[in-house]
Amino acid sequence: MARGKKIYDGKAKTLFKGSEPGTIIQYFKDDATAFNAKKHEIISGKGVLNNRLSEFFMTGLKELGIPTHFIKRLNMREQLVMSAEIIPLEVVVRNFSAGSMSNRLGIKEGTRLPRPIVEFYYKNDELDDPLVTEEHAVAFNWATQIELDEIVTIALRVNDYLSGVMKAVGIRLIDFKIEIGRVFDNDYQGLLIADEISPDSCRLWDIETGEKLDKDVFRRDLGDLKDAYTEVAKRLGVI
Ligand code: UDP
Repeated sequence: MARGKKIYDGKAKTLFKGSEPGTIIQYFKDDATAFNAKKHEIISGKGVLNNRLSEFFMTGLKELGIPTHFIKRLNMREQLVMSAEIIPLEVVVRNFSAGSMSNRLGIKEGTRLPRPIVEFYYKNDELDDPLVTEEHAVAFNWATQIELDEIVTIALRVNDYLSGVMKAVGIRLIDFKIEIGRVFDNDYQGLLIADEISPDSCRLWDIETGEKLDKDVFRRDLGDLKDAYTEVAKRLGVI
């Protein structure tokens, strides 16, 4: 499929116009970034793995009737997705404390939370994506209360799906981030999961050993990121 004009060059993906109206081609790059892109490396093959893994998760969600932007994978590095207006919130669901929650609240990493916790971060690189409440999101018109309620429902359904899929292959889903878009299309109007779901946006620990199989391997210099993502893809039967 012919790529159209480049519309956005992100940290890990480049977006091009698709040939059909209302479509976008997502190209998965090998760039790994952390700490708001202060740390940056090329991890050869990461884009190929994330393209396949995101296809796997988005397809699984679609089968459960959870709307996503995914249409089809085009090749090793590209997938066709629906164009959507991205809500400027990173939606994080946590099952165990880690990362910024552990730092903020002084909870030891790996502590099971009493229940899954949904958090919102305002997508703004200049501000380092600050934690915000639903009050901020509604007051500043980032999303309506009705949308936020639906986003929480979607996020918890994704959590149930991803936790189960991972548990089946011996991996604990610690937390993950999703992004939500609005679509106004004749076929579908409403919210859907956009961006990607991959080990770049999840924390995944081996249930037996606690070994990290996600982007923390890169953030914290724990070993070979490609090996970690390959292990996840192998266990899920994606490669
Ligand atoms: N996350 C992400 N993109 C971001 C920030 C966080 O995908 O810009 C993911 C991260 O990989 C983890 C979850 O969201 O799975 C929670 O991240 P946290 O708030 O602990 O921030 P971090 O410690 O990664 O800075």
